[in-house]
Amino acid sequence: MAAIKTIGVLTSGGDAPGMNAAIRAVTRSAIFNGFKVKGIYRGYKGLVDDEIVDLQTQSVSGIMHHGGTILKTARCKEFMTVEGRKQAYENMKKHDIDALVVIGGDGSLSGAQQFAKEFDIPIVGIPGTIDNDLSGTDHTIGYDTALNTIMWCVDRIRDTASSHERLFIIEVMGRESSFLALNGALASGAEAAIIPEIASKVDQLSELIQSGFRKSKNSSIALVAESPVTGGAMGVAERVKKEFPQYNVRVTILGHLQRGGSPTAQDRILASRMGAAAIDALMEGQRNIMIGDDDEKMIYVPFSKAIRHTKTIDTDLLDVLHRLSI
Ligand code: ADP
Repeated sequence: MAAIKTIGVLTSGGDAPGMNAAIRAVTRSAIFNGFKVKGIYRGYKGLVDDEIVDLQTQSVSGIMHHGGTILKTARCKEFMTVEGRKQAYENMKKHDIDALVVIGGDGSLSGAQQFAKEFDIPIVGIPGTIDNDLSGTDHTIGYDTALNTIMWCVDRIRDTASSHERLFIIEVMGRESSFLALNGALASGAEAAIIPEIASKVDQLSELIQSGFRKSKNSSIALVAESPVTGGAMGVAERVKKEFPQYNVRVTILGHLQRGGSPTAQDRILASRMGAAAIDALMEGQRNIMIGDDDEKMIYVPFSKAIRHTKTIDTDLLDVLHRLSI
């Protein structure tokens, strides 16, 4: 394997708060260790379309506290094809990029795995997604900020819910996994989390209605994970109107509110540590791995494990939620 001299960095897929802190950490840690750094705009799209710039220490000044990503992000259909990836590889060579750091979610790391395999490129992934759905890492960058945003929003909705004695159904993100719904419900003292993982086994809405709402409380809040399986907040509200018409139900969809905002300290620290660890990994000859955090330690997780969709929620958390919502 040829020695790495220049490292490219990109952000891809859904943006997440803390991505800028990760770009900063990758850039500064690489320069500290004597590498050149190139920033690739708009994820894989910038690699295919040749939107590549030099990054210096000062290029990443003053960005850490901003949400989003200074490198922009995009979804790229061309990169899903062999021709698109070949074009991306040619642009990498044109800019003398020897290795890549990809900051993104499940899809972005699947693309990285495919690209690395076809063109024998060292690639290290950093988990950047609010969903926390990558296996092999306790946390992904952006998850803690999104969770805090959800808590902040639900606290405000509760004021109205209790004043008007209403049932509020609040939809949160997390199509494939319910970390935001479940931990968001715990953090905000919601009465229920309606999640896809147990939807086939339990009628979670009936359970909520029967569990004491209106016996001990005059209002109730349920967080619903956005998913075709749960029906989302609109689907759940429709059911309430039909099956429990006595309840005054309202819907709030938090949507992209959950993606933005200044990252929390926890996300900034995680992003800084993961960015530095990505450069360490490349220096150690690692490739095709994602940086993960395991009990506060930085670890290397093979792409094949990270994107396997095996990260499951802890159902004990549901039990705690039920106990505390009486
Ligand atoms: P996220 O990283 O947030 O999960 P996406 O699923 O939208 O976001 O993936 C981001 C981009 O990664 C896609 O637009 C595509 O360019 C690339 N990608 C995803 N899956 C693959 C794949 N199997 N092969 C090649 N590229 C992929």
